[in-house]
Amino acid sequence: MLDNIDKTSRISFVNNKFLPHQNCMVHIEDRGFQFADGVYEVILFKNNKLIDVDAHLSRLDHSLSGLTIINNFSKEFLIDVAVKLFKYNNLKEGTIYLQITRGCTARFPSIPKDIQPTIVATVSPLKETNETEFNKGYTAIIEPDLRWHRCNLKTTSLIASSLVNQKAKDMGFDDAIMFREGLDITEASYANVFMVDNDDNLITRQADNLVLCGITRNRMIELAKINNIKVQERLFKIKDLLQAKEIFLTSSSLIIRPVVKVNYQNNDYQIFNGQVGDITKRLKQYYQDFINS
Ligand code: PLP
Repeated sequence: MLDNIDKTSRISFVNNKFLPHQNCMVHIEDRGFQFADGVYEVILFKNNKLIDVDAHLSRLDHSLSGLTIINNFSKEFLIDVAVKLFKYNNLKEGTIYLQITRGCTARFPSIPKDIQPTIVATVSPLKETNETEFNKGYTAIIEPDLRWHRCNLKTTSLIASSLVNQKAKDMGFDDAIMFREGLDITEASYANVFMVDNDDNLITRQADNLVLCGITRNRMIELAKINNIKVQERLFKIKDLLQAKEIFLTSSSLIIRPVVKVNYQNNDYQIFNGQVGDITKRLKQYYQDFINS
């Protein structure tokens, strides 16, 4: 399949072709480009396995059906593309970014029928949090959540997250944790948020339409329960977060990232005296064991 390609270059996948990354093009009238009319998944590849691939591909299905895009790509096909991409890029571990848009058509707001979806996939080396970074912990600002009301779909409409993430960086913080009306926490710009209260309850928002139901989130909840950590999936507020014993973020690429300082309305709050908490450390180990199992 790659006979005419310099195999030392980065290879990506676009519309059923594996090509050198710099030659991967999508048309200017793709509705992904014009309307953010598309969805994506990011899947971790480690120990020669796509981690929780069934859950990721089910969520892909869910996101596509939420946008009324028919999923013509079988699970086997998508896994085959992923495995080949890691192989062609000589990556033993990393992440795959898989994006499907409705496809190309003249720019018009109503949704055309019978157009071919666009599919693209890229792989990248792993950017896992190293031990020193993990132990130092991360920082986050707390900001209003300005996204639409269907955050349970993993769409490519990411500008609100991108802006708030950049605001955090500009203020010298690592990420932004967002809240809605009523000061209820939703999630971070690209990750789910967990907190531990003073009674050692592990709390994360219920998987409603205002958060992405993270695959890593679900796996952490399962691992916590198996290991006798009390879990509550419910609303919690900024004031709860500011008094938390531990805070951490989860996603397929970060896995688990402790947050030891948050900033709200220009005031800094140390979490657990700036230390990484015990439950966060335990869950990191449980997840590691799960991946290695
Ligand atoms: N929430 C948002 C907004 C995200 O963008 C992501 C991942 O990119 C997550 C949560 C975590 O999801 P997952 O654990 O499936 O990677």
